[in-house]
Amino acid sequence: MKYDRIYNFSAGPATMPVEVLEEVAAEMMNYKGSGMCVMEMSHRSKVFQTIIDEAEADLRELMNIPSNYKVLFIQGGATLQFAMIPANLMKNGVADYIVTGAWSKKAAEEAKKYGKVNVIATSKDKNFSYVPDVSDLPIDENADYVYICENETIHGTTYANLPNTKGKTLVADQSSMFLSKPCNVSDYGMIYAGVQKNVGPAGMVVAIIREDLIRTDLPEWVPTYMRYDIHAENGSMYNTPNCWAIYVCGKVFKYLKKIGGLSAMQAINEDKAKVLYDFLDSSKMFRGTVEKKYRSLMNIPFVTGDEAMDAKVVAATKAAGYDNLKGHKSVGGLRASTYNAMPKEGVVALVDFLKKFEAENQ
Ligand SMILES: *Cc1c(COP(=O)(O)O)cnc(C)c1O
Repeated sequence: MKYDRIYNFSAGPATMPVEVLEEVAAEMMNYKGSGMCVMEMSHRSKVFQTIIDEAEADLRELMNIPSNYKVLFIQGGATLQFAMIPANLMKNGVADYIVTGAWSKKAAEEAKKYGKVNVIATSKDKNFSYVPDVSDLPIDENADYVYICENETIHGTTYANLPNTKGKTLVADQSSMFLSKPCNVSDYGMIYAGVQKNVGPAGMVVAIIREDLIRTDLPEWVPTYMRYDIHAENGSMYNTPNCWAIYVCGKVFKYLKKIGGLSAMQAINEDKAKVLYDFLDSSKMFRGTVEKKYRSLMNIPFVTGDEAMDAKVVAATKAAGYDNLKGHKSVGGLRASTYNAMPKEGVVALVDFLKKFEAENQ
């Protein structure tokens, strides 16, 4: 493979489009005649302002974001949002959480510090291997929002349908599926994503939030940095933003536009995931751990049913140039993250390898 790269199936930080890395490399010493690298540049400079403005405009175009939504670039990763969301959105002090895996569980735990959290549905009974029925949930009439993690990175589940929130604001963590397919932004009050899974470098979240949810009447104790209104008023530059992540994400947005936008990306992702799922469904040695209806396009956990054999496969794949396939300890086995930037050839090659492994280890 070009540059001796391997197929990196990491859940995050994760593989990036080679084309984007090449552009970044070409601009490393002198960004567009500025005489400096983007990481050496003032965030208050005209050059950087153009970078962040274009990034936002391209993202708005890709996702067709309505004008009454703000796009914010915030540091602290998705984890800071677990706290910022309740701190900003809990007006009545109540929120409903749907717990479908490790990340929604963490978010619900954190929210308890800020108010009353109702877990209105969970798939804990079957180790988060499915998404519960969300068509008629016991929504609290005082709930300020309903929270979901739309793609659970560790357990490999995704929603087949969004929950019926009975008129309440829907807040979604899309970290491990952001920009993997078209998304109707108006279905949500807020969407956010840590970008190191499917878009860019670690250390930043893109938050898309409807303007009427951005409160200016927050209690005194809410730290300045944790206020959405402060980020919104200052164009995501209240303090020094993650300039590097904004720059690289901006390149990925342009790349996605070039390949035909999110519908084209979805077709590629479905085609790619099918290669692995079809293999898992036909294999006698391996099986997927998630109920078919809720299988993620992005994170595909699978097991042999024998821990020693799982470890043997992980070691064999690593030696063959397919890295980061070890499953999270809570699921075991293996997990292939097939994010936007993983080429189909990578999945095809992995499946060929697994077929061979199966034939040799029966
Ligand atoms: C990785 C991940 C997080 C945590 O992201 P950080 O940037 O490390 O805080 C939260 N939610 C989901 C769905 C994730 O995949």
